[in-house]
Amino acid sequence: MSALLGLQCHLCKTMFPAEALYVCDKCLGPLEPVYDYRAIRLTREEIERRPKNLWRYRELLPIVGRPRTGFNSGFTPLVRCDRLAVHLGVSELYIKDDSVNHPTLSYKDRVVSVAATRAIELGFQVLACASTGNLANSVAAHAARLGVDCCVFIPDNLEAGKLLGSAIFNPTILAIAGNYDDVNRLCTQVADRYGWGFVNINLRSYYAEGAKTYGFEIAEQLGWKYPRHLVAPVAGGTLLPRIVRGLRELREIGLVDGDLPRVYAAQAAGCAPVVRALEAGLDYPEPVRPDTIAKSIAIGNPADGYQVVQTVKSTGGSGAAVSDAQIIEAIQLLAQTEGIFTEPAGGTTLAATIDLVKRGVIPRDESIVVCVTGNGYKTSEVVAGKLVEPVRLTRAFKDFESWWAGRSAEAFALRQTV
Ligand SMILES: *Cc1c(COP(=O)(O)O)cnc(C)c1O
Ligand SMILES: [Zn+2]
Repeated sequence: MSALLGLQCHLCKTMFPAEALYVCDKCLGPLEPVYDYRAIRLTREEIERRPKNLWRYRELLPIVGRPRTGFNSGFTPLVRCDRLAVHLGVSELYIKDDSVNHPTLSYKDRVVSVAATRAIELGFQVLACASTGNLANSVAAHAARLGVDCCVFIPDNLEAGKLLGSAIFNPTILAIAGNYDDVNRLCTQVADRYGWGFVNINLRSYYAEGAKTYGFEIAEQLGWKYPRHLVAPVAGGTLLPRIVRGLRELREIGLVDGDLPRVYAAQAAGCAPVVRALEAGLDYPEPVRPDTIAKSIAIGNPADGYQVVQTVKSTGGSGAAVSDAQIIEAIQLLAQTEGIFTEPAGGTTLAATIDLVKRGVIPRDESIVVCVTGNGYKTSEVVAGKLVEPVRLTRAFKDFESWWAGRSAEAFALRQTV
């Protein structure tokens, strides 16, 4: 049974049927699924009994039949980070760790599980996307599992690990000479003429809903409570507003109460249209030309930029933009204090958190959730040459002994302390 009533324009509130529509034909506003919340009878106990994947919240997701993929996606760890907290000088810090999401190690496995299921319900034969890398990986993997044709569009300058992460699933890969915003423009034209299911274009209304599960899980994993502060990365602007929408919905159906967290937008200084808009008091971000190592969040003209600005403001949050050097430092800090290896998007979010705490914007004695959305093994280039080198020895025991005896005094400890 589905509580899905249809799609509604986020701006002018006109209702539409739940088809592959994504913009309002009256005002060009984005379309969002609406549900009959009164028809949803969900209890904490019922959810807790279900398998640990994102479909445990299926009544709040925009499908009408059964899930088709994503049976191991979502329900990633919420990690209490006490060593990192000491380093930041804060009392209660968590990482929501989608760097270990299934099957392709990023938050995109959530949105693709939902969009791909809906694509099948709507009868699409080809699954496609415009991607900065992680989305293409996830679309290609889910398409392989579903046995449907797949064509992913990416900028031609992606990291080797991101390209490999799609190629292994054998989709058609179109690498476009241009940045993500160019790729996205091209894909909008293809979606119109070819009738392919672009998960983040003509299926965007369904895709975006999958991101709510990141918020649902945070509340459930905190014991059905909200944190006080939440820092999220922003690229196209899907994730951040949907975390908040998800948290709101839990209150709407009576599973959590209290105040929503303050939500902060994290971006790389080389691509920070949303943070700049928040600082300048603009409702609509001004497009920028991206120039940062954080390629997975290098979107200069975010599709949901307006919604991010509204959401951040409505919670009393703000934004922070951080340099590439701060991003790399934060990647290493997270790895060395907590054993979590994230890509530059996660480094951006942690570096932004550090900045917000230092500036006194986030108080040190309240709970903080930092959103880690992607995995560092895909972007090894960014830390190449910056890490500890192996000590190279022969296999003779005496060689080991002379290395041990000859170590300098300051290298006495066998592990690095940050
Ligand atoms: C796509 C992505 C994001 C956020 O993207 P939105 O378009 O703002 O939802 C964040 N981190 C990683 C690693 C991503 O791949
Ligand atoms: Zn409208």
